[in-house]
Amino acid sequence: MKKMFIIVLVTLFVSPCVRAGEKWLEGYHKVLVIGAHPDDPESMCGGTMIKLQQSGVEVVCVYLTSGEAGIPGKTHAQAREIRRAESLVACDIMGVRPVFMTQVDGNTEINKDRYAEMLTLIQTEQPDMVITHWPIDSHRDHRNCAILVYDAWRQSGHSFDLYYTEVMTGLQTQNFTPTLWVDITATRAKKLQAYLCHDSQGTADNVAKFHDAMEMMRGMECQATYAEAFVQQLWK
Ligand SMILES: [Zn+2]
Repeated sequence: MKKMFIIVLVTLFVSPCVRAGEKWLEGYHKVLVIGAHPDDPESMCGGTMIKLQQSGVEVVCVYLTSGEAGIPGKTHAQAREIRRAESLVACDIMGVRPVFMTQVDGNTEINKDRYAEMLTLIQTEQPDMVITHWPIDSHRDHRNCAILVYDAWRQSGHSFDLYYTEVMTGLQTQNFTPTLWVDITATRAKKLQAYLCHDSQGTADNVAKFHDAMEMMRGMECQATYAEAFVQQLWK
């Protein structure tokens, strides 16, 4: 009887974190989320970033480019200024530190120098976890970002745990079958607030067309209202 009472108590009061199977998220101290464009980190896993930040983890939001090609009618310089400003506000809302790398939106490169640049970022920041794009994606910049991070993971001697996540699944992320989930029900409002800072990208439309459905679908997969989903890069 006593045992049954304890089981009922545990079932009733178990945290959403445990219900979503988030043990894998514990024990990290510094997390880099590396996205190709301003708004990618926020849309991919903003809810998780906020959750980590609120639990005392240092979270760094890395933008591979500054979204130079992302505003019709604006020059690269104008778009860079607008999108960096949007990113700064978004990061402030999430309580994370922004880092802008030097690649150019729509023209990202994979070569020896760019591999070295990503490795230098990793060696400078020394994260124990990195989250980036799932590598099969219709957008070249997203694919390139994932490959650069994967290479830095190898070159650093697997110095951090590497996770992939999705952005606009169907239109951009393809063939993504997650194995890990984070319940973002409690942090979703703040995630949306941060994502909507990227107003130049039609983010309100994207929420209605993509993110609502994605986050509810991932939530159904882990018995949460809203969730974000991940795959870990394995090597052993
Ligand atoms: Zn993007």
